[in-house]
Amino acid sequence: MNIPRYRVSCESCGVEASLKIASSWTNGDTTELKTYAIVCPTCLPAALRGARNRHSACAVASGERVEPPAVFELAMGRPSHCLLRRADLE
Ligand SMILES: [Zn+2]
Repeated sequence: MNIPRYRVSCESCGVEASLKIASSWTNGDTTELKTYAIVCPTCLPAALRGARNRHSACAVASGERVEPPAVFELAMGRPSHCLLRRADLE
Protein backbone atom coordinates (compact mmCIF):
# COMPACT_ATOMS: atom_id res chain seq x y z
CA MET A 1 0.00 0.00 0.00
CA ASN A 2 1.22 3.46 -0.88
CA ILE A 3 1.33 5.96 1.93
CA PRO A 4 0.99 9.41 0.45
CA ARG A 5 3.67 11.82 1.59
CA TYR A 6 2.25 14.82 -0.20
CA ARG A 7 -0.61 16.98 0.97
CA VAL A 8 -3.92 15.16 0.70
CA SER A 9 -6.89 17.13 -0.58
CA CYS A 10 -10.46 16.75 0.57
CA GLU A 11 -12.26 14.83 -2.16
CA SER A 12 -15.36 17.02 -1.79
CA CYS A 13 -14.04 20.59 -1.65
CA GLY A 14 -10.31 20.39 -2.32
CA VAL A 15 -8.92 21.95 0.87
CA GLU A 16 -6.38 20.02 2.90
CA ALA A 17 -7.94 16.82 4.25
CA SER A 18 -7.34 15.71 7.80
CA LEU A 19 -9.81 12.88 8.24
CA LYS A 20 -10.41 9.51 6.72
CA ILE A 21 -13.61 7.47 6.78
CA ALA A 22 -12.90 3.79 6.66
CA SER A 23 -14.20 0.50 7.88
CA SER A 24 -12.47 -2.64 8.88
CA TRP A 25 -13.05 -5.55 6.49
CA THR A 26 -12.21 -9.16 7.22
CA ASN A 27 -12.68 -12.49 5.50
CA GLY A 28 -11.44 -14.45 8.50
CA ASP A 29 -7.83 -14.63 7.32
CA THR A 30 -7.11 -11.07 6.33
CA THR A 31 -8.22 -7.83 7.90
CA GLU A 32 -7.84 -4.57 6.09
CA LEU A 33 -9.10 -1.04 6.30
CA LYS A 34 -11.35 -0.09 3.41
CA THR A 35 -11.38 3.63 2.76
CA TYR A 36 -14.67 5.30 1.94
CA ALA A 37 -13.59 8.92 1.83
CA ILE A 38 -10.79 11.33 2.66
CA VAL A 39 -12.19 14.68 3.69
CA CYS A 40 -11.76 17.87 5.68
CA PRO A 41 -13.72 18.39 8.94
CA THR A 42 -16.31 20.57 7.16
CA CYS A 43 -17.23 17.84 4.68
CA LEU A 44 -17.10 15.05 7.26
CA PRO A 45 -20.82 14.90 8.21
CA ALA A 46 -21.99 14.56 4.58
CA ALA A 47 -19.22 12.12 3.70
CA LEU A 48 -19.97 10.02 6.77
CA ARG A 49 -23.65 9.84 5.82
CA GLY A 50 -22.67 8.76 2.31
CA ALA A 51 -20.27 6.14 3.65
CA ARG A 52 -22.95 4.74 5.96
CA ASN A 53 -25.39 4.50 3.04
CA ARG A 54 -22.79 2.74 0.93
CA HIS A 55 -21.96 0.44 3.82
CA SER A 56 -25.57 -0.61 4.39
CA ALA A 57 -26.04 -1.18 0.64
CA CYS A 58 -22.85 -3.21 0.38
CA ALA A 59 -23.30 -6.94 -0.04
CA VAL A 60 -20.62 -9.03 1.60
CA ALA A 61 -19.71 -12.53 0.55
CA SER A 62 -20.18 -15.32 3.06
CA GLY A 63 -17.36 -15.36 5.57
CA GLU A 64 -16.70 -11.67 5.05
CA ARG A 65 -17.50 -9.04 7.60
CA VAL A 66 -17.39 -5.28 7.26
CA GLU A 67 -17.56 -3.00 10.28
CA PRO A 68 -19.60 0.20 10.07
CA PRO A 69 -17.63 3.18 8.76
CA ALA A 70 -15.48 4.93 11.37
CA VAL A 71 -13.60 8.21 11.40
CA PHE A 72 -9.81 8.29 11.65
CA GLU A 73 -7.30 11.10 11.80
CA LEU A 74 -5.10 11.22 8.73
CA ALA A 75 -1.47 11.11 9.71
CA MET A 76 1.18 11.38 7.06
CA GLY A 77 3.52 8.44 6.92
CA ARG A 78 1.66 6.50 9.58
CA PRO A 79 0.63 2.95 8.66
CA SER A 80 -3.13 2.54 8.36
CA HIS A 81 -3.36 0.15 11.31
CA CYS A 82 -1.93 2.87 13.55
CA LEU A 83 -4.50 5.52 12.62
CA LEU A 84 -6.10 7.34 15.47
CA ARG A 85 -9.83 6.69 15.71
CA ARG A 86 -11.96 9.80 16.25
CA ALA A 87 -15.14 8.30 17.66
CA ASP A 88 -16.03 11.77 18.97
CA LEU A 89 -16.61 12.88 15.38
CA GLU A 90 -18.79 9.95 14.33
ZN1 LIG B 1 -13.94 19.40 2.31
